[in-house]
Amino acid sequence: MKSDLGQHVIVIGCGIIGACTAHALLEDGWRVTLVEPGVPGGVQAASFGNGAFISPASIVPMSTPGLWKRVPAYLLSSESPFTIRWSYLPRLFPWLFRFILTGSTVRKVEQTARSLNLLLKDCVLHHQALAKRCGCEHFIRKDGLLYAYPSRHAFESDTLAWRLRRENGVKWRELEGEDLRSLEPALDSRYLFAALVEDGGNCTDPGGYVSSLAASAVAFGANLVKARAIGFNFSESALKSVRTDKGDLLCDKAVVAAGVYSPPLASTAGDTVPLESERGYHVEIEVPGSTPKIPIMPSDGRMANCVVSGNLRAAGQVELASLEAGPNWRRADLLLRQLIETYPTVGLARKDLKIKRWMGHRPSTPDGLPVIGFSSTSRDIVYAFGHGHIGLAAGPRTAKAVSDLLVGRRSDLDVVSFSAARFKRERFYCLRRWRKAN
Ligand SMILES: Cc1cc2nc3c(=O)[nH]c(=O)nc-3n(C[C@H](O)[C@H](O)[C@H](O)COP(=O)(O)OP(=O)(O)OC[C@H]3O[C@@H](n4cnc5c(N)ncnc54)[C@H](O)[C@@H]3O)c2cc1C
Repeated sequence: MKSDLGQHVIVIGCGIIGACTAHALLEDGWRVTLVEPGVPGGVQAASFGNGAFISPASIVPMSTPGLWKRVPAYLLSSESPFTIRWSYLPRLFPWLFRFILTGSTVRKVEQTARSLNLLLKDCVLHHQALAKRCGCEHFIRKDGLLYAYPSRHAFESDTLAWRLRRENGVKWRELEGEDLRSLEPALDSRYLFAALVEDGGNCTDPGGYVSSLAASAVAFGANLVKARAIGFNFSESALKSVRTDKGDLLCDKAVVAAGVYSPPLASTAGDTVPLESERGYHVEIEVPGSTPKIPIMPSDGRMANCVVSGNLRAAGQVELASLEAGPNWRRADLLLRQLIETYPTVGLARKDLKIKRWMGHRPSTPDGLPVIGFSSTSRDIVYAFGHGHIGLAAGPRTAKAVSDLLVGRRSDLDVVSFSAARFKRERFYCLRRWRKAN
């Protein structure tokens, strides 16, 4: 089923989600306008500075049983990969409470992993197909992803994560000793064990990829308008236009894909979505000799190491602070220190090397699932935001789900788990439980 020819969709935001969505809609025959105040794939977007991992293994949510016991340590430690700014705690509390609750039982975590698996299955193949259609195949590689551990015992202690992966069909090859060294000679010898996820891949330049996807969407007939969306106009119950800081843009449908900046737009469309920025950082450093061969996530550093545009990038850290707070570059320096320790032989400790630092906002819901679905007040508005740690990998599948919804095709995603209405239901159940208890 295709769209009624000539119907016009406005896609709000041109990060990876907006760019992939524009292509899926063009394929279905929609007239498409992308509205983006910045440069598509520019530094303002999470899609610019991410870890570049396209991983089918990223189905394990951040919140897992027992997390609440570690929260005091996160508040006190300046070195852990997860940190909370004290001053933000009172405002963060409702989100944090839900976040901890979502991971409070193994059954809930299993459910989240199953939903995420629908988005991430075959993610590299989906990206390869899209990049090929756009003539930018060079951005996507499928060399596998290495999850490195100090020992087999450390790997086996990560029981829940690898069990969830196995149960959801993620495959890996276990490597030790010489096999590991020959796959990645640059990796520090303290890592004695690794799981190689062979279906995983990476993007060689996430910002450049989004910019290329946007350019090819324009070449395929989309409009790109430099403006910031601020709301919607309706005539009766039908969407009439998207309001922007540069005037109203007439349309039949709209997709909200503005990453962490989406909630105010969703609220003008009738939905309150509890979204927080899980701030993350990257450092990028030129490598004096030959670059490492394969992207690696070391278990102790909890960061994605990957070659991006010829430089070595380490991306990671979760910092819960407000959207407006300034960066704490000490978090980026922690990544740099871990990067040097992970690759001790490639000369990264030299003082004359150029280092770039970046901070960005993962758009994160408390239950670890994105918001993909109709607004609760209008079937002319579809949401596609809140992808947290997995937006790069999940871009093409999200785009397909959005185009299925707009055309009225059946989607194989579990649309109920992803709908914005789940937060209303959750408030209702909490209220009922509270009333019963009182
Ligand atoms: C440090 C770090 C590491 C990460 N590593 C990975 C990884 O390895 N793999 C992975 O899959 N994911 C990773 N992620 C997550 C991933 O980057 C995000 O989930 C993804 O980029 C979100 O994409 P998006 O298009 O929703 O948002 P964004 O990329 O933030 O794009 C949103 C766009 O909307 C625009 N916009 C904002 N407001 C408006 C408005 N009012 N009107 C119009 N446009 C607007 C913005 O200018 C921006 O360009 C990482 C994130 C971080 C921060």
